[in-house]
Amino acid sequence: MSEPAAPDIEPAAVEVIREVLSHQRRMREGGCTGRVCLHCVRHHLDAVRSAMEAGRRIEFVLPAFPTKSPNPAKVLGPLPDLAEELALRFLNSLCERIGEVYPPGAAILICSDGRVFNDLLGVSDENVTAYARALDAMIRRIGATHLEQFSLDEVYSGAGHEDMRSMLSAGYAPTPAELREEVRAGGAPLAMYRGITRFMLEDLSGPGYTGTRSALQRKCRDLAYRVIQRSRAWGNLLDQLFPTAIRLSIHPQPCSTEKIGILLADTPDTWLTPWHSVAVASGGRFTLMKRAEAEEAGAELVYVAGSPSHYVLEPAVEPAVPRSAAAPRSTAVARSTAVPGTVSPAAHRDSWDQACA
Ligand SMILES: [Zn+2]
Repeated sequence: MSEPAAPDIEPAAVEVIREVLSHQRRMREGGCTGRVCLHCVRHHLDAVRSAMEAGRRIEFVLPAFPTKSPNPAKVLGPLPDLAEELALRFLNSLCERIGEVYPPGAAILICSDGRVFNDLLGVSDENVTAYARALDAMIRRIGATHLEQFSLDEVYSGAGHEDMRSMLSAGYAPTPAELREEVRAGGAPLAMYRGITRFMLEDLSGPGYTGTRSALQRKCRDLAYRVIQRSRAWGNLLDQLFPTAIRLSIHPQPCSTEKIGILLADTPDTWLTPWHSVAVASGGRFTLMKRAEAEEAGAELVYVAGSPSHYVLEPAVEPAVPRSAAAPRSTAVARSTAVPGTVSPAAHRDSWDQACA
């Protein structure tokens, strides 16, 4: 005889994973098929099912929301703005929808990785602290009760920031030789390396840079390795601290791997995250754009409570996907009104590879 609860748990667990995977950020040629990939559903079934069998809330770990990009051509400043708020509202609403299927519900632990590599990005520890505090206040203000934050500060409480990073690297980072080997083999590690190199080039090639282009490229390639090394160390530590949580990632992932890549916002460039861009309200929806691109397109800056919040662009920019393809939960928005962000299923097919080609 099987356990009486088992027959009910199985379909509910599938429904929970389908809800998450409907916002999946996929790798092109990553192996996923169908609107919701059944291989990925199967892959994550055990983790969700065991939480449900134990009556626990389903916990997700998401390394994300590190700090704002230091590049003023991309963002409004060092503090979170409407771009972050939309992503937080989206993540919280995802947990609410899981709670409709499974009443003990779900929680997402946002494991800010700002402190993990801010020194490599040229961002001060003070800015990382200010960003994390403001994000915490934002989570409380919008009532995102399913979201929590966790950072390196809590792991090595009381230590200096440099020491925290040293202890993390010493305990959990792969060696440079191991990483180079992985990147040389291609696939997801190579895509990630290229993507991060591109970001570093964008962020460090501002008017302040006076060296040659080739020297900057060399520097950015080296920094990209170090960023990946620290991210990997952070991921390893999180796996150890939260062994039963399901790992989410802001980066596209290959099919049936331990992490689920998830989109945080609707954007034509799937590389863009809320902390590398600004929110732009246009044509009844929000999208993410680099600040300079929003301004070149004629977008107007909106202040909320005295702080720069987002842009409004009229007339509507061409949406990234036909409106008919927009997600069913797509919400019409009033100008400068903060509402949950929407995600277009078609955008999931864009890929990291494509974005950094
Ligand atoms: Zn898949």
